[in-house]
Amino acid sequence: MLNLLKTHFGFDQFRPLQEEIIRCVMAQRDAFVLMPTGGGKSLCFQLPALMMPGLTLVISPLISLMKDQVDALQANGIPAEFINSTLTRAEIAKIQADARLGNTKILYAAPERLILPEFQLFLKKIQVSLIAIDESHCISEWGHDFRPDYLNLKMLRDIFPEVPVMALTATATQRVREDILHQLSLDQAKIFISSFNRPNLSYIVLSKKDSYGQLIEILREHQNESAIIYCFSRKDTENLAADLREEGLKALPYHAGLESEERRTNQEKFIRDEAQIIVATIAFGMGIDKPDVRLVIHYHLPKSIEGYYQETGRAGRDGLPSKCILFYSSADAIKQQYFIRQIEDESERKNAYRKLDQMVEYCELATCRRHHLLSYFGEDYQQESCNGCDICLSPPEKFDATIISQKIMSAIIRTGQRFGMNYIIDVLLGAKNKNIIERDHHRLSVYGIVNDFSKDDLRRIISQLLSRNLIEKSGAEYPILALSQRGQDFLKEREEIRLPKFFSIAKLSSPSDAVDADYDRELFEELRLLRKRIADEQGVPPFVVFGDLALRQMALYLPQSEESFSRISGVGEQKLKQYGKIFMEVIQTYAKENNLREKIIPVKRSAKSRRIKREGSTYQETKKLIIQKMSLEEMATVRGLAPSTIAAHIEKLASFGEEIDIDYLRPPVEKFEIIKAAFKKSGGTALSPVREILGEDFSFEELRIARLFIK
Ligand code: ADP
Ligand code: MG
Ligand code: ZN
Repeated sequence: MLNLLKTHFGFDQFRPLQEEIIRCVMAQRDAFVLMPTGGGKSLCFQLPALMMPGLTLVISPLISLMKDQVDALQANGIPAEFINSTLTRAEIAKIQADARLGNTKILYAAPERLILPEFQLFLKKIQVSLIAIDESHCISEWGHDFRPDYLNLKMLRDIFPEVPVMALTATATQRVREDILHQLSLDQAKIFISSFNRPNLSYIVLSKKDSYGQLIEILREHQNESAIIYCFSRKDTENLAADLREEGLKALPYHAGLESEERRTNQEKFIRDEAQIIVATIAFGMGIDKPDVRLVIHYHLPKSIEGYYQETGRAGRDGLPSKCILFYSSADAIKQQYFIRQIEDESERKNAYRKLDQMVEYCELATCRRHHLLSYFGEDYQQESCNGCDICLSPPEKFDATIISQKIMSAIIRTGQRFGMNYIIDVLLGAKNKNIIERDHHRLSVYGIVNDFSKDDLRRIISQLLSRNLIEKSGAEYPILALSQRGQDFLKEREEIRLPKFFSIAKLSSPSDAVDADYDRELFEELRLLRKRIADEQGVPPFVVFGDLALRQMALYLPQSEESFSRISGVGEQKLKQYGKIFMEVIQTYAKENNLREKIIPVKRSAKSRRIKREGSTYQETKKLIIQKMSLEEMATVRGLAPSTIAAHIEKLASFGEEIDIDYLRPPVEKFEIIKAAFKKSGGTALSPVREILGEDFSFEELRIARLFIK
């Protein structure tokens, strides 16, 4: 399996659960796969497809995604096709004929195909070994993306009662999960649920002061990288995109109100790296699988944690460090409350308030954001610091908040524990509010007692007191504050409390990564342009040619032989053949001009088991490295072989009469003379007696190489 993973996909290792899932379906068992976006679900059916006889049928709801996935498979040399309404009858007939002949390993189809009698007839004539249902939450009416066509999938079980079914999704609450299992009769399925932590994403909340200025700065810092900016309204997206274009940034809007043609081209330009920035409403994202989105920015407050997590999930699918930045101000929350108030249905309205409240709580956190997100989804994240959220990266300073907390709590008590946060704050700040005066609250001792904190400060302090369970909140629409038992004790015992000093504007550092830090930016740019050119010639998105990780590794290690190039992540046999030469030419020229040398690509643990069969013998591979004047140790590392084996190769090559310059490998003169003398003394050419004479300071490899220079 590791061999197939490298030759066809160019990867060295499985991601968590991939291997287990693949083994499960290979054993003919149904599987249910719940994995976050970017977790690597596709591979779970694409790799088994290569090992099974016949064809793997993949049901996918999004026509645009289908094409991208098939393009990516074909670029890896895997016979894959899709059938959907964008094709002509003739094209479909051709694809079906090919599939019947057994020429296709993976066939994508849209769910609405399944009710067409002719398609059913076609299915009955082919050998199907695995059925994969991607985005399987679409089958559930309880989910957020119900598609009636998905109900047709049930009939697949009738047509193929013996064939294992794999259902995959990134989003499923307990209820939706049960619904999927039930609808697809997956009662025997093995269930795989992976962690929803996305370690390569960092979560940052910025205070919305000069948000536009901050935004521009962030975008400039990430020039040439793909970014999605989510806005509240359609109008916002158009305005912001226009403003960004004025700044010279390539930004396009996207929302459901645009002409479908404009929507399509804007999305296409984003996917093809012609526009770096898409400014969108949440209508954007379902239809794209772009792996190299480095930034997801929420310019306005999201409506719920679920939505927020799903939108941020679109960053960094390729596993490279990426940032999720949210601009927060309490004014945004108030604006949203205004819209929620318009919702007529009471339970819906209450629910919306609750969701918004949870979102505000997240923004005002003074503890790890990742921990909070994961525990929201029922996962227990144990790490002390996640190293990837603004709080963990720069823990806020604390201050003595005893007195201000006492003032807040007294105000709550004095007004009778019947009012909400804003009212309490108004009292504390001495606002000339009609309601306060009518209720005579301006005569209370706590009225106007605070003059060293702003309204926003007070909101945050109250949030902290809530999260520390000193005060409690009840009611959805107009939540009322009251003291908890804990809070009463706090006052009575005159306890002290220290709270975080609000928001330090987070530094935008992210978890570092060797490849992230050290690659040559200039060469990366050149390779990026080359990638774009090739992609355009072939009419595919750039990431189908190579992902960002592959380009970064090239710009770090400067591989210039087939052997080392094939070690780059994402380079399998097909891509080596198709793109190796042209990319290596650029690398070689750049290395020469800048006087840089190829670096050794570290061998991954599983390297031994993933030898690629290539033309030329193992000796020829070593010869290529000799030509690059690598040391014995370097060659051994690059090839994943022992130094003694490499020495034996060199000897073999010399005995073939190969014309290679190995002079640089000759031991230094002093050493060489000692070895020479020892050979003479031993009276023969065997290595062991010489080693005996010289002792452990000399390795067998050294002796072997030296022997070549002794006539
Ligand atoms: P999902 O469908 O779960 O959102 P994808 O299947 O689109 O995720 O995979 C996300 C990215 O991860 C893709 O760019 C894919 O090539 C990459 N990927 C998948 N498996 C591996 C692996 N074992 N090693 C490295 N990259 C992988
Ligand atoms: Mg997917
Ligand atoms: Zn954290």
